[in-house]
Amino acid sequence: MLNLKSEIKNSKNYFVWTIGCQMNIADSQKLESAFDNMGLGKSDSVQDARVVVLNSCVVRKSAESKVESMLGTLKSVKTLFPEKIFVLMGCMVGPKTDDLKKRFPYVDIFAQPQKLEPIVDFISNKMGVDSEGCLESITVAPDVAAYIPIIHGCDKFCSFCIIPYRRGREVSREIKDIVNEVELLTARGVQEVTLLGQNVDSYGHDLEPGNRLEDLLSAVNEVKGIKRIRFLTSHPNDMSDQIIKAVSKLDKVCEHFNLPFQAGDDEILKSMRRGYTNLEFRNLVEKIRNYIPKASFATDIIVGFCGETELQFQETLDLVQEMRFDKVHAAAYSPRKGTISDRMMEDSVSKEIKRDRLESIWELQESVQSEINKDLVGQEFEVLIEGKKKEKFFGRTRSDKLVFIDTDTDRINEFVNVKINSSTAWSLQGTILN
Ligand code: SF4
Repeated sequence: MLNLKSEIKNSKNYFVWTIGCQMNIADSQKLESAFDNMGLGKSDSVQDARVVVLNSCVVRKSAESKVESMLGTLKSVKTLFPEKIFVLMGCMVGPKTDDLKKRFPYVDIFAQPQKLEPIVDFISNKMGVDSEGCLESITVAPDVAAYIPIIHGCDKFCSFCIIPYRRGREVSREIKDIVNEVELLTARGVQEVTLLGQNVDSYGHDLEPGNRLEDLLSAVNEVKGIKRIRFLTSHPNDMSDQIIKAVSKLDKVCEHFNLPFQAGDDEILKSMRRGYTNLEFRNLVEKIRNYIPKASFATDIIVGFCGETELQFQETLDLVQEMRFDKVHAAAYSPRKGTISDRMMEDSVSKEIKRDRLESIWELQESVQSEINKDLVGQEFEVLIEGKKKEKFFGRTRSDKLVFIDTDTDRINEFVNVKINSSTAWSLQGTILN
């Protein structure tokens, strides 16, 4: 044990655990890059690491419970190895940390989303390593595709959502900084970038005119080496004609839209403060499909929001049936402390009913996806091979379809043309043509 303790004290390894959205993944990648620049080494486990970072999510109760469980595990580790440095970052950390400090006194530092400087400063002091400029250059290039935050925070304040309280108001990054980051990533072999924002469509409203999402997409489209550009998450109210036209015209921008509708009933949409109606959402999808017939769609749904009746839920089911989304992320409503719905509305739908409604959505969407994917059998697609899962290489089409490929040759990070031979609701299977 003594040996182990002194090993830990002298160790310069770090371990980063991440849960939640792509913004969290992007923050973790940036922090890992900074640690690498500081001379620390990446570890695969809490046991081997001197620095342990939990990047947390509290958007749903289930995610928060996982973070709490990880924190519980760390408590006993700290008793045995007090030299370990524990960091809690992400959306569990609000502007005030007194309560967290009381609950988790063994955590050394708490950092809000995107606020990485306090972490590197603390680690640098504690371990005596240089952190000068460590957040400025990218050393950890994701294998194939990279996430790039372009706008932080959210101004929408949907009644169920904790994000604006944790990530603050919207702040857009300058186009030149984003283009510079894309160039650095392409130099490291990245061919696909996903531009991220909680509400990516409102990018640039706080910058000079001529700096909106469509302008950024055009600028990134010019970067040599980049082959595909994606963006998420959209908001129906901010999806402008200019954005739709940019997607239809720019050759590298993939014709895939992440467009949450959340609920099908207008009353529920109003109490969620989403700012659009069922009809407006339908019209928007129709408009996009008119401009871009091949467009694919992913959406988010919350079932069992405060007061949602069976009839109101039926509106959600109807929308899923009729819109034929390519992917649906459905979750049961869980009140998040401090949000408008938590303070002012009753969480009146029982757990059982929420679960039944979720199952209805999943069952319906499975049949929709099976039909959509079946129609793709026999067609050919360009696929960027991303990795290997269960002995099978896999990649994605421009429309974000997951494709498993019959090949033994490792062609990760290559574009290949694939003929689709079979399908399930969740993926396509095919063979390489070139
Ligand atoms: S648009 Fe609404 S749901 Fe999305 S991050 Fe902002 S407040 Fe949350």
